[in-house]
Amino acid sequence: MTVCLLCQQALKKRILFSDLLLLRREQEGICSDCQEKFSPISEIHCPTCFKEGEEASCTDCLYWSNKGLEVSHESLYRYNEQMADYISRYKFIGDYLLRTVFATELRNYFKNKTDYTLVPIPISEKRMTERGFNQVTGLLSAAGVSFVELLQKEDTKKQSEKNRAERLASKQSFSILANVDVPEKIILIDDIYTTGATIQLAKQILMKNGAKAVTSFSLAR
Ligand SMILES: [Zn+2]
Ligand SMILES: [Zn+2]
Repeated sequence: MTVCLLCQQALKKRILFSDLLLLRREQEGICSDCQEKFSPISEIHCPTCFKEGEEASCTDCLYWSNKGLEVSHESLYRYNEQMADYISRYKFIGDYLLRTVFATELRNYFKNKTDYTLVPIPISEKRMTERGFNQVTGLLSAAGVSFVELLQKEDTKKQSEKNRAERLASKQSFSILANVDVPEKIILIDDIYTTGATIQLAKQILMKNGAKAVTSFSLAR
């Protein structure tokens, strides 16, 4: 019996016409009840970072804009309770099976972005040892999307353990890996976008090393 990766209830085997919409999800291992609790970002969102419910630039984007920094970020889902629970089980508890849950959405999203090189935000060596995998490359690999690792990260306090002021004041902890060529057009990929501090730091390093256009994407905002 196949069960839902998130709630362990049995997944339907027989497919009725009315289930066709759900089929795609069940192939990736979660039931429709769990799927419905994820909340896709609606039409009303910050034009530059996709923050839900903002009609104009949000306070985070204004903060960057006042520093002369541009934000060009897109995201698929709101960081609601269901997403927080998913991220915590996938990333912090380390359930690697959960990397497949958004495979179809991610594959569809990146289908038309072939002009860009996808660059995942790295995790530090210490985090890699603790977790055993980079949650971002896990999501991309499960989606069958190709990416290039260009960055490395020094060990610092986890972004998730910092308050807003600490996040915004984060010091540069990224550098370019040895012997890589930095392409001109890049989409930086992360699992969650909170204030944008991580993306801005990674972007800064890439621009200094030859990138001309760097946008970003996260599963959740
Ligand atoms: Zn479920
Ligand atoms: Zn914004």
